[in-house]
Amino acid sequence: MWTNWAGNQQANTAIARLTSVTDLQRAMAQPGNLRVVGAGHSFTPIVAGGDRILDLSNLNLPKVGEVSGGRVWVNANAHLRDLSPALADHGLAFRNLGDINAQSLAGAVSTATHGTGRTLPCLAAEITAAKLVSARGDILTTDDIPLEMAQVTLGMLGILIEAQISVVPKYNLRRQVRLVDLQDSIANMHRNWSKNRNFEFFYIPFSGKAVELRHEVSDAPEGKVPRDLDMIAVKVLKLARNKGRVSGGLRRALLKMLTMAHSDEDYVGESWRVLCSDRRIRFNEMEYHLPPDVAGDVLQEVIARLHRDHKDIYFPIEVRQTAGDTACLSPFQGGPRISIAIHTDANEDHRRYFDAIEPLFVEAGGRPHWGKMHSLTYKVLATLYPDFDRFCALREQLDPTGKFLTPALAKLFRP
Ligand SMILES: Cc1cc2nc3c(=O)[nH]c(=O)nc-3n(C[C@H](O)[C@H](O)[C@H](O)COP(=O)(O)OP(=O)(O)OC[C@H]3O[C@@H](n4cnc5c(N)ncnc54)[C@H](O)[C@@H]3O)c2cc1C
Repeated sequence: MWTNWAGNQQANTAIARLTSVTDLQRAMAQPGNLRVVGAGHSFTPIVAGGDRILDLSNLNLPKVGEVSGGRVWVNANAHLRDLSPALADHGLAFRNLGDINAQSLAGAVSTATHGTGRTLPCLAAEITAAKLVSARGDILTTDDIPLEMAQVTLGMLGILIEAQISVVPKYNLRRQVRLVDLQDSIANMHRNWSKNRNFEFFYIPFSGKAVELRHEVSDAPEGKVPRDLDMIAVKVLKLARNKGRVSGGLRRALLKMLTMAHSDEDYVGESWRVLCSDRRIRFNEMEYHLPPDVAGDVLQEVIARLHRDHKDIYFPIEVRQTAGDTACLSPFQGGPRISIAIHTDANEDHRRYFDAIEPLFVEAGGRPHWGKMHSLTYKVLATLYPDFDRFCALREQLDPTGKFLTPALAKLFRP
């Protein structure tokens, strides 16, 4: 039985662990439909639901291939946490990364995984060329299909085997953490994004306070990796909620203590070590990417609803910004977006909270993260992306028998 990281998606399907591209091409000739799993870190039914699941994490390709002029070919099924040190061996690094690096590169780009930074695009926008195995078993490249179609695909156009990505010389980052009043954080967020390379903030429910995180490039000496205070904070907030002691005062005192411990550390380290951490407490998540000019108002309304109707929620709300790009299915296509993410404990019901908040995101013109929970189907998605129907037509042309199509994915990509 396969389950995803959060435990909300399951499949009673055979998992084939393939080691060569020839085996992958042979797998295409077998009857039935199939999906590829990366690291199983998506919350949506985009891996389960087919006859077979392929795991390509042991495909016999080098992690890092040809390097030329700021671009490098990589094994698309390698995991980000293995690719970062492999790139560093060549003096290179990803321009930006998200909160974790457990994902495979292919899995991450397929759903437009992003970090934060006003001028920093999502990972998929860094792809400059790609090689895929098509539903017919042929090798396709971005000479055969337009690059902007191949960057974000949810695995619907073919199976990504190698990708050429744009990278930067390796660099160190300095992390600074501050506890501020939520209203100040919202009022200053646009300025903070323009002043800082990476900026994000978390609102801690019922505290009136936000934790702000900034990252700047630094030449200072590297420090010791700090303790995982985020995990301790979430555990204590849960304990407080369970005991019925969810007073704002307790939350504020706890946050102050944790933030002081964080800022004392003044952490400098390799970019990928500073940007990414482990997330060991399981949660469910919904994240929408909003036009920047409406995001502040939407956030205020989300918090008002949380305070009024969802007193059991203790997981923070995360707010980030990502630069615009040109990938056809990227939620950042056409301009920058501010992302608001809400979370619940993976063992608790998420529906009441997510169902209440999602309409606020949709009415504001938000686009959902492809790997995180949402309820949108073709009818609405087609209105959110100018080239959605072009993508659907190409999908139909490349995969007329529905080799990669499950019932859940048909709801997204078929009228
Ligand atoms: C704890 C946690 C933290 C997260 N943090 C962030 C974050 O900071 N920013 C963010 O944007 N998202 C974040 N996410 C979401 C996550 O990055 C995405 O859901 C991502 O797609 C997961 O990658 P994966 O390797 O696990 O892929 P999977 O979830 O296994 O697969 C994702 C999709 O990619 C397809 N796929 C996989 N391999 C291939 C291939 N070779 N060819 C074609 N298609 C393929 C799959 O079929 C599926 O449709 C987080 C998720 C978790 C659980």
